[in-house]
Formats: sequence, C-alpha cells, structure tokens
Amino acid sequence: MPELVRYAVGPHNSRGRRWREAPPVGRSELQRDRDRIIHSTAFRRLEYKTQVFVNHEGDLFRTRLTHSLEVAQIARSVARSLQLNEDLVEAISLAHDLGHTPFGHAGQDALHHCMKQHGGFEHNLQSLRVVDVLEQRYAAFDGLNLCFETREGILKHCSLQNARKLGDVGERFIKRRRPSLEAQLANLADEIAYNNHDVDDGLRSGLLSIEQLARVSIFARHMKQVLREYPNIDARRLVHETIRRMISTLVVDLTRQSTKNITKLAPRSVDDVRAAPLLIAFSAAIERQQQELKQFLRLNLYQHHRVARMTNKARRIVADLFHAFMNEPRLLPPQYRDREQREAARTVSDYIAGMTDRYAIREHRRLFAVDAI
Ligand code: MG
Repeated sequence: MPELVRYAVGPHNSRGRRWREAPPVGRSELQRDRDRIIHSTAFRRLEYKTQVFVNHEGDLFRTRLTHSLEVAQIARSVARSLQLNEDLVEAISLAHDLGHTPFGHAGQDALHHCMKQHGGFEHNLQSLRVVDVLEQRYAAFDGLNLCFETREGILKHCSLQNARKLGDVGERFIKRRRPSLEAQLANLADEIAYNNHDVDDGLRSGLLSIEQLARVSIFARHMKQVLREYPNIDARRLVHETIRRMISTLVVDLTRQSTKNITKLAPRSVDDVRAAPLLIAFSAAIERQQQELKQFLRLNLYQHHRVARMTNKARRIVADLFHAFMNEPRLLPPQYRDREQREAARTVSDYIAGMTDRYAIREHRRLFAVDAI
C-alpha cells in the first residue's frame, strides 16, 4: 500500500473499537474489519438481494453483492491515487448495503411505512445495526465490533432524532460535521457504480433503449467517441465501451476535483477534514451531467411500468409479512420470538429486513398459501 497522507485514517488516529481486543496479527485493524464483513451472514445474503430488478428476473443483473464489489473496486482505485486508506474504503464499500431489505427501495419504503409508529426504518441505520448488534458470531460481544471509522462510513445519513440515540457515530449529524475522506469517497463510488450499472441493466432488460440514452449528454458524448473509433461496432459492445468510458471519466474527474479541493484547504489531520466542507467531490460540470443521468434513470427505469408492477408486489409482500408477524408473534422463528415484548415491532422489522428476495417470496407463500408448507 502506498504511504498514506496525514489526513487519511490510519493506525495513529483511529478511535478504535467499542470493545477492546488484542491487536490483529499479520493484518491491520481495518483489514480485520473488512474480513469480518466478508465472513458475516448479512454479506452472503447480498447475493440474493436486488436494487432494481428482482432476483428471479435474470442471472445477469446486478445484485447487492456484485454492486458492493463494484463500489469497492472504484473506491479503492481512487483511494490509491489520493493516498487515502484503501482498506477502510474497501470495508465501508462492502458493508454499505448490509441493512437493505429485500426488493430494493420498494421493500424499504414498505417497511418504513409499517414501522412509522415504531421509530421508522432507515436502511443506513439498519446497516449499522447489522454490524453493531444483529450479527451474532463472537463470544465476547454482539455485532462485529468494527472500528469507529468503518461504522462512521456505513452511517451515511441519519435523522437527528436517531443520531441522538447513537452516541459517537451519531455526533457528526448533530454537530454538522463531515466524515473521513474515505467515507466521503465510498459514498461517491456508490453513485458512480449504480448510475452506470443501472444503465447497463436497463439496456440489457430492454426497459431502456440506446436511442433514449442518446439524449442524455454524458452517455451521448462517450457513445460518439466509441462510434468514431469503431463505426461498425455491434450494439452490445457499443454499450460496454460507452459505459467503461463513462466510469473512467467520472473516476478521473472525481480524483482531479478532490485533489484540487484538498490542496486548497490543506487539511493536516482527520479532524481538519471533519470540520471542513465535503472535499471529495465531482467538478460542477460532471455533477450536472450526473444529475441529468440520475433524473433520466428515475423517470425511465425506476418508474418504468414493468418495474412498478414488481414494486407493487414487493410492497404487498413486505406489508403482509409485517402484519402477520405483528398479529401472531408465534409465527416468527424461535430465535426472534423471545425478544422483549416492547421490541416486538423492531424484531419483526429486523427479521424482514434480513430476508433475501426469494426468501421473502417463499415465506409469504408459506404463510398465505393454504396448500404451501
Ligand atoms: Mg449502494
């Protein structure tokens, strides 16, 4: 690993773990965090959770697992150029979606709606809850006992009300401070990854067409470049060549603009970074083009009628499961049943949030189809 800049997170400035542990052998503390995340149950479930398309719709679409790997890849290469902590961005990237419900945003909205009277549901907060509480594999503590900086990066957003209950990781939302540069970077790598792979999956599924995308400036510009170099290229390769150029433009722009911001502010420590405005950022021009692409995806992909049909089913499945378990807690598996009565709704929410797409569909069938067991 190249030498780190002094405002990167490193062993000299980490706030450490909640429970003291013997130092790791042969790997750093943050590498240990990454390893714990990869070995967690919630991480394996990412393979069967989706963002836009439901798992059974096709084998080639992104799942939350492949998405998280793409985020980690992008974040690591930028971290390396900026001499930030690659292990930390990798750990945050791999963990950032652990708290997602089945069925992407539809599932999350439905669960939040069901939980309105019981403190609501936020997927960021749930990701933190997974690594802090829900993973139960160590003898001495609940959760994975990750370093403060990894937990800080996982909690991207949080309401003020929830921030007050969270102690150390909640503080920055109350004091209006920023997280480490590594956390800022993982956040934007997430954006680069999903914008680009949603274009790819959207085209592959036939919900989007190249003609439509040719009206979006960042796609059009890169597609023209490819066609100039390869006038006879077939459609599938044209898409890949365009997307890989888009990713590269975004990565280069992010690296350049962030370097500029950092040079200008000249932070000397992680604390300087936390007190400064966001330093990891796109240039204004690229930011505008990213927004245009996002808006296009919202209108043409996320709100496409075929996606909406599945979204509608997903919402019903989550709501049906929630109400069934709330009305009859004996339907829950034993390990969820003996939690305290006042936590009933949170217990049900944890159980549902942990489900993969296919498990939720199966569980729904088992509970509601008379001939299913
Ligand atoms: Mg993500």
